[in-house]
Amino acid sequence: MIHGGAGVIERAQLSVEQEQGIRADLDAALDAGHAVLSRAGSALDAVEAAVRVLEDSPRFNAGKGAVFDAEGRHELDASLMEGHSGRAGAVAGVTTIRNPVSLARAVMEHSPHVLLIGAGAEAFADSRGEIVRVPNTWFDTEHRRGEWQQAQAREREDAAAGENLKGKYFGTVGAVALDAQGRIAAATSTGGMTNKRWGRVGDSPLIGAGTWADARIGVSGTGWGEFFIRCAVAHDIAARVAYRGDSLQVAADAVIMDTVPALGGDGGAIALDADGNIAMPFNTAGMYRGWIRPDGSRGTAIFRD
Ligand code: ASP
Repeated sequence: MIHGGAGVIERAQLSVEQEQGIRADLDAALDAGHAVLSRAGSALDAVEAAVRVLEDSPRFNAGKGAVFDAEGRHELDASLMEGHSGRAGAVAGVTTIRNPVSLARAVMEHSPHVLLIGAGAEAFADSRGEIVRVPNTWFDTEHRRGEWQQAQAREREDAAAGENLKGKYFGTVGAVALDAQGRIAAATSTGGMTNKRWGRVGDSPLIGAGTWADARIGVSGTGWGEFFIRCAVAHDIAARVAYRGDSLQVAADAVIMDTVPALGGDGGAIALDADGNIAMPFNTAGMYRGWIRPDGSRGTAIFRD
C-alpha cells in the first residue's frame, strides 16, 4: 500500500491531466514495490522502492517537489521500520539528500543509531557511496514555490494564518508492505509543511508517530504532523490491535477519525496487518493512495468514492 498525502484536495482544483499524472505515479510506485514482492523480495526493499519513486516524482511533497520552508528552502524528513526485527532508521532536516528514505535505511543498517539530523546526517551520507546528494534547489518546483508564496502572503495579511494548518499540507508519501515470508515494513518521506519554520520536524521521521511496523502491523501516516506526534498515531493503531484485540480497521478508524480530530488535528494513514487486511482512513477531503491486495487486485484513489 502507498499514500501520496492527505489534505484539502479539491476535486474542482484538480485537472484531468493532474489527476492522470498523480495516478500514473502512484501506479509506478505500486509497480516498483510489487516487483520486489513478486520476486520474493523483502517488505523492506519493497517500501523503499515504492517511496523512492514517489520521492523522485515532482507531484508529491517528498524529495523532488518537496514544499518550501519559511526560508525558501527544503528540509526533508524520512523514516522506515522493519516489523519482524523491530529495527528502524530515520533522518530529519536534511537538505541535500535526493532520496531521504534510502538514507534512513542506511542509518538503520550501517549506524548504531535510529535518527540522524541535518548536517550530521549529510556527513553520514557521504560515508555511504549509494546515497546521492543534490543541491537544495534540485527539489524546487514552480508549483510548490507558488504554494509557498501564497502561504507567506496569507501570513502577512493575518499573522494567525500560520497557526491553523488544518488541511494545509499535501503530498507526503509513504508505503507499507507484507512480503511472502510474512514480514512487514513501513516507510514515510516528506518535505514537511509549507512555510514551516526552519528546524521544524514533523511526525514523518518519528518512529511511532508517522511510521510504525511490528510483527503484526505496518502503518504510515500523513497529516498535520504536530498532532500525529502528540497522538503517537502509528504506534497507537498497532497498540489497539495488540492490546485491545481491535481489528485493523477499527483501530485505524479510532485513531484517525476520533483521537486526532479530538485534539484539533487532521490527516490520514495507510495500514496493513499480517493477514493481508488493509485500512486507509482519512478525515480530510482526500488522500492520494494505492494498494495491491494479496489476491493481486489493485487500485488507486484520491477522494472518498
Ligand atoms: N505529516 C507531515 C508533516 O507534518 C505532512 C504531511 O503529511 O503532508 O511533516
